[in-house]
Amino acid sequence: MENIDREELKKLFAEINVWKRGSQRAPHKPLLLLYALGRCNRGSSRTVVFSEVDPILQKLLRQFGPSRRSYHPEYPFWRLQNDGIWELENAESVELRKGQTDAKKSELLSHDVSGGFPRPIYELLSRDKAFIAEIARDILDQNFPTSMHDDLLQAVGLDLDRQVISRAKRDPDFRNRVMTAYEYRCAVCGFDVRLGSSQLGVEAAHIKWHQAGGPDVVPNGLALCSLHHKLFDRGVFTVSKELQIQVSEHAHGTSGFEEWLLAFHGKQLRAPQRPDYYPKADFLRWHFREVFRTPARYVRSSLS
Ligand SMILES: [Zn+2]
Repeated sequence: MENIDREELKKLFAEINVWKRGSQRAPHKPLLLLYALGRCNRGSSRTVVFSEVDPILQKLLRQFGPSRRSYHPEYPFWRLQNDGIWELENAESVELRKGQTDAKKSELLSHDVSGGFPRPIYELLSRDKAFIAEIARDILDQNFPTSMHDDLLQAVGLDLDRQVISRAKRDPDFRNRVMTAYEYRCAVCGFDVRLGSSQLGVEAAHIKWHQAGGPDVVPNGLALCSLHHKLFDRGVFTVSKELQIQVSEHAHGTSGFEEWLLAFHGKQLRAPQRPDYYPKADFLRWHFREVFRTPARYVRSSLS
């Protein structure tokens, strides 16, 4: 790779296709890139061996990706080569999976394959921390809801001093319509604190993420307090098509868990004002499949 300028590099990052299979989430590449940007930001070596990336990316996928039976950090580590922003070392004699263009994980490990940004890209990024922040912000905006950005940055060790402020365009009308539909109250806990006449801490959440093509319509929205918004986006709870709140078996805690979460498990969502505002089953299904940390806890009342 010859020299590359900022605009060309931004274009390469923007062209990485991650939503290929309909609206199924595939956060593998974005997470690996954020991790690599974090390394670059800290001045770590340009390339890193797969054995070091493997457990870290597994953890990131488990925390920030959809619930899956297994996780495959080897896919993005191998496939990013084709996007022009990643190169591998020691990969010459790696054996591929049968009938596929992907490498076997065992091969990446046994050959000590390492990967990283190609040198011109690494050097361009290393010289310009603000540019790292800009790229990271684009990746976050394109792939994850705003409520997850801080946690993600922390998890990949990207300390950006608040430089990363989402600039994704939002439809203010969506927020207003969702708030009206739910009477400016959290649909889970009913939170509706006001300071004078201004309402605080209640937000319009997308059920199917904006980043996955979820539309700005009321049946794809929920009014949620900041806490329940964050927990919903992280898949700690979901809502069934019968509008029952279901908490994940993976969620636990001592202080606050019972009062702020478990107390609502199996309960009905506070319904919006009119039936045509109700969350649409398609969007709820997407949330269950792509965001919720399955399985849901047992609901006692459903058997009585
Ligand atoms: Zn709430």
